[in-house]
Amino acid sequence: MGTRIFAKLVVLAAVLIAIATATLDFAVQRSWEASLHHPAAVGAPGAAPDQGDVGSLRRALITGSAVALLLATLLAAVAARSIARRLQRIIQAVERLASGELATRITDASPDEIGQLATAIDRTAARLQEMFRGAEHSRNQFETLLNSIEDGVLAVSSEGRVLWVSRAMGRLLPHVRMRESLPEMIRDPEVLHAVQNVRITGAASHARAGSIAPGRVFQCTAAPLPGGDVVVVLHDLTDAERVERTRRDFIANVSHELRTPLTSIEGFTETLLESGAATDSESREFLEVIRRNTLRMSRLTEDLLTLARVESGEWQLEKGSVPAGSLLEEAATGLQYVAGEHSLQVRETVEAQVLADRDAIHQVFSNLVENAAKYSAGDTPIFLGATANAEEVEFYVKDQGPGIAAAHVPRLFERFYRVDKARSREAGGTGLGLAIVKHIIMNHQGRVRVETAVGHGSTFFFTLPRSDGA
Ligand code: ADP
Repeated sequence: MGTRIFAKLVVLAAVLIAIATATLDFAVQRSWEASLHHPAAVGAPGAAPDQGDVGSLRRALITGSAVALLLATLLAAVAARSIARRLQRIIQAVERLASGELATRITDASPDEIGQLATAIDRTAARLQEMFRGAEHSRNQFETLLNSIEDGVLAVSSEGRVLWVSRAMGRLLPHVRMRESLPEMIRDPEVLHAVQNVRITGAASHARAGSIAPGRVFQCTAAPLPGGDVVVVLHDLTDAERVERTRRDFIANVSHELRTPLTSIEGFTETLLESGAATDSESREFLEVIRRNTLRMSRLTEDLLTLARVESGEWQLEKGSVPAGSLLEEAATGLQYVAGEHSLQVRETVEAQVLADRDAIHQVFSNLVENAAKYSAGDTPIFLGATANAEEVEFYVKDQGPGIAAAHVPRLFERFYRVDKARSREAGGTGLGLAIVKHIIMNHQGRVRVETAVGHGSTFFFTLPRSDGA
């Protein structure tokens, strides 16, 4: 590069000197010719200059030009060398910056344009370095955060290659490698299906994965990342499910064991009451208290057993296509004894078939009607009804009771949650009725909800999927 700048400077100087020489030569020639026509014009006191003088003047001019050209060449060589060296440094520095060495600086403090260019590049490099440090810091923080999560996290590219694996995921699946294809490393169809779902729908997808690691069950959540990538989070459910199963089994066993002694206490108490063995009023009163409490305990153990069976899936639902209207009719006629003084009326019905287990849905209606009757004073009617859309039928049980304050609504379907414990107990409630309803409906792939306001009654809704695909 040095020689190129040098050559350009020399050519430039030579052209300038040649133009200057030619101009001077032309001026000397013109001035000599003018002096021939007007000898006084040259201002010389004697005769006009002869051709010899002009010739020597021109020679001197050419010699001067040659010397000037030589000097210019030397100067150009020095200038070219210095400029080329400075530009060379800038080029090398920019190349190093481009290859990622962001600490590179040129440090050329001269005030000329090359110096200014170098300073501007240094400033840009410093800014880039700062931004890069910031980005790296955030990335490290983010990585530390993801690595500190106990759940396994991995990112998959839009082509299905693994982009990043968290430490927990590495421990869980040691064979998973970066840049390898996910389907070749994780063979669990549920996980692959969830990832595929995210790609198709662009929304998060959940799955239960049972074949990732032997003997372990995971909750898999796949969610979209920018650019078509997908993040997969695996949450180990094995221990939680084991604890839950133990708890359920324990409750079921205890309830089962309590059943027989409770039936016996109930039977003997009734026999004593009926036989008239207890003659004084105090003894009769005690026996009544024993009977009432035994009944409560029996109900509680029955409800606990039912809930454990529904939750564990032990209660095998026998689902079939059932007319929605017939479920309403069966509830209205079969549950009048549960409604007591309140009349049970079907207010609206639909021509649709639903996928349901008749007995289980009867149990749902029974719990809801029992509550409606239990918590409503007087003999206000209880309405049953159903509405339908293309996918499902929504059933409801509506009462004109006291309603429920909004603060309680989110927890209403939890087991043992009671708005007014004393009132529920007094009414013979166990706090499990709505939890049973929720689990039965969940096992039907339906949803439960309630619309209620204090002083305006409550309407409990549940949905069942349509089997006639309207
Ligand atoms: P419980 O056996 O106590 O009735 P549930 O699970 O059936 O238990 O209901 C939970 C709580 O929800 C009840 O204790 C009661 O406070 C409230 N609740 C349920 N149904 C109604 C209703 N129809 N009207 C007012 N409150 C209700």
